[in-house]
Amino acid sequence: MTALLIDGIAALVTNDPGLGAGPLGLLADAAVVVDSGRVAWVGPSSAAPAADARHDTEGRAVLPGFVDSHAHLVFAGDRTAEFAARMAGEAYTAGGIRATVAATRAASDSELAANLDRLAAEAARQGTTLIECKSGYGLTVGDEARAVRLAHRVTDEVTYLGAHIVAPEFADDPAGYVDLVTGPMLDACAPHARWIDVFCERGAFDGDQARAILAAGLARGLVPRVHANQLGPGPGVRIAVETGAASADHCTHLTDADIDALAGSATVATLLPGAEFATRSAYPDARRLIDAGATVALSTDCNPGTSFTTSMPFCVALAVREMGMTPDEAVWSATAGGAAALRRDDVGRVTPGIRADLVELDAPSHVHVAYRPGVPVVRTVWRAGEVVARG
Ligand SMILES: [Zn+2]
Repeated sequence: MTALLIDGIAALVTNDPGLGAGPLGLLADAAVVVDSGRVAWVGPSSAAPAADARHDTEGRAVLPGFVDSHAHLVFAGDRTAEFAARMAGEAYTAGGIRATVAATRAASDSELAANLDRLAAEAARQGTTLIECKSGYGLTVGDEARAVRLAHRVTDEVTYLGAHIVAPEFADDPAGYVDLVTGPMLDACAPHARWIDVFCERGAFDGDQARAILAAGLARGLVPRVHANQLGPGPGVRIAVETGAASADHCTHLTDADIDALAGSATVATLLPGAEFATRSAYPDARRLIDAGATVALSTDCNPGTSFTTSMPFCVALAVREMGMTPDEAVWSATAGGAAALRRDDVGRVTPGIRADLVELDAPSHVHVAYRPGVPVVRTVWRAGEVVARG
């Protein structure tokens, strides 16, 4: 592999305060050298070493690739009619997931793989260089195992979410379904997953069930993440912190105690504004979380029911407009924040030694991610030094 010099960068977001200004470690007139898939050098353009090849950004901004730490990409079908009905005034309930479960079970492996690949490519074109992917639309041993296996097509950050909702066959026996999720289904999925997740919400799994599911996963070496406090207040955030979860996701309805618990823990609060957008719901209060000292990540929650977007730039724009975040905070949360939510120290920054996941914007500043919503602001995307999308 040859070394590549990327120079002429008007604004480089490094996310390393040791390299530049503020929490974003912002460098003006910067350059980056990429070698063997890693960042080899970062500094002023005028001092850049020679390399085999050169990419002149001509005054554009470069930032770390987006880390989307929450996505549901293994599914079939869509829920256009449900979305339209909701926009006409119907309320969202967790039950809509059942429609996707039926379509996913009926789909062939190749249909699921094609949809997964299409969505991962769509995310990459918008600057996502690492994405997490959950199961959760199979809800049988075979269908969940198929989902975690297929997810490896697009990522190593695979999450077992057998506890998305109680499978329809167990509607009258939720305890029986928890036994399945913590028993044979876990046996089949654990070898293919890094994480275990549970939808802890009224209509899905209560606190005791969530604790049992996460404990079973922990015993098999899976690390918890929790769908918590999305539709109403509840025990999800508390359980996430208690079980040492990497992330509590949604965090829309939080008490002061929930916020204190997050701020005093290593559990990241992952906010998913695409879900509030697509369900026309009140957004989480990012300002309150950040001011309390919690680590905040932003993700798409890409799924066919409640947030059918793969666009991290869209989520950054929503976070700034609707959740009280500054553009700097939102860009940090969509990059370094996502890396923290996946407990990865090799992505989410632009510093020597780190994986060369970079986004060149078609703009002179990272602020344009929020300032120019809905336009194709991402120009070039490198993952581990390879171009994966070019505008
Ligand atoms: Zn989700």
